[in-house]
Amino acid sequence: MTLARLRLNKNADRRIKAGHLWIYSNEVDTAATPLKGLQPGQQCGIENANGQSLGVAYVHPNNLICARMISEKPDQQLDVELLKSRIRQALALRETFYDRPFYRLVYGESDLLPGLIVDRFGEVLAVQLNTAGMDVLKDEVLLALREVLQPVAVVWRNDASARQQEGLESYVALAWGELPDQVLAEENACSFEVPILDGQKTGWFYDHRPNRAALMPLVKGKQVLDVFSYRGGWGIPLAKSGAAKVVCLDSSAPALEGVMDNARLNGVEASVSTLCADAFEGLQQLQQAGETFDLIILDPPAFIKRKKDQGPGEHAYSRLNREAMKLLTNDGLLMSGSCSMHLAEDRLQDLVRIAARKQGRSAQLVWRGGQGADHPVHPAITETRYLKALLFRLVSNSEA
Ligand code: SAH
Repeated sequence: MTLARLRLNKNADRRIKAGHLWIYSNEVDTAATPLKGLQPGQQCGIENANGQSLGVAYVHPNNLICARMISEKPDQQLDVELLKSRIRQALALRETFYDRPFYRLVYGESDLLPGLIVDRFGEVLAVQLNTAGMDVLKDEVLLALREVLQPVAVVWRNDASARQQEGLESYVALAWGELPDQVLAEENACSFEVPILDGQKTGWFYDHRPNRAALMPLVKGKQVLDVFSYRGGWGIPLAKSGAAKVVCLDSSAPALEGVMDNARLNGVEASVSTLCADAFEGLQQLQQAGETFDLIILDPPAFIKRKKDQGPGEHAYSRLNREAMKLLTNDGLLMSGSCSMHLAEDRLQDLVRIAARKQGRSAQLVWRGGQGADHPVHPAITETRYLKALLFRLVSNSEA
């Protein structure tokens, strides 16, 4: 079957030739090749203004990102075979970096599978189909995953907000197989129960793994506060590494129940406690109680989801870091995280500097982290590099 074609405007092929995968609707020569009439998810041949092929993309005629490239070959469509080959390629990367099968197996565009996210928990997979182009290939994705990985269960976590923009329904369902009684993630020499059907996102956040690991040698005998803890991805391994006390703060009661389950699973319940509160209120409660900590981790949800949230979002990061610092001992460590792709690392660094100065303290940046190898960055697509983890030491400016 011949593919429909989309012709790009003059020079609009430059980004694609540089390796980018997205085509914006204003880059299409709609007089020559209208977007209207194409089905969401339909695969089309893409050509430059001279009619030269750039490859194949799947389209969404109503979206700003109206097409995502899936191949540079003129006729190569995304089908079970190509899915299997890309999944195998993604798997090989993870197997190079991790001895055990616990990681983000497919990270969308970065693994040349736009719109597809797969998290692996041993023999159980949690899958997000975040675009119409991937959604129409649902059966093929399932088949490809089953053939490459032989999982015991596959779950659709098709409840990400991205689906709304694509006009797709939101649901969570068992796609295939039978879920074991307990789904576990392994990370940093700890085990974690993963609520694969009703947890946040895919049930677990693998992205901060190297940043959590970086703190493990630093905490023996220390007092640690894990803010926005979810189920203890930071707090549990730090307790296991010898922290004297770990307080996990989150506004979600189920997440904090998960923290205690995970504390017991790893034999550290004696040193772990939880505080269920809005982060800002919780920080104030701890201040009023006169508590102090040697290490504070801030791993908030994205405060800047869209460009228009920049001002209020930056303000929230500032306030959060400032309130946390008030609880930090002199010489204490602050791990300041951000998963907002719109917040540049330098800007976060600056917000922390300013917050420290306001308290008559100086911040020293001692370590910089980012997302693990299972969240590879696509160098042409800046959006794929979203995670920041800056470790500061805070010192007083008024020492004797
Ligand atoms: N640190 C976690 C991931 C954080 S996800 C990890 O490493 O796995 C963001 C967390 O922030 C979620 O658990 C969510 O329940 C919590 N959260 C969102 N808004 C909050 C708020 N205003 N106050 C406290 N917690 C909040």
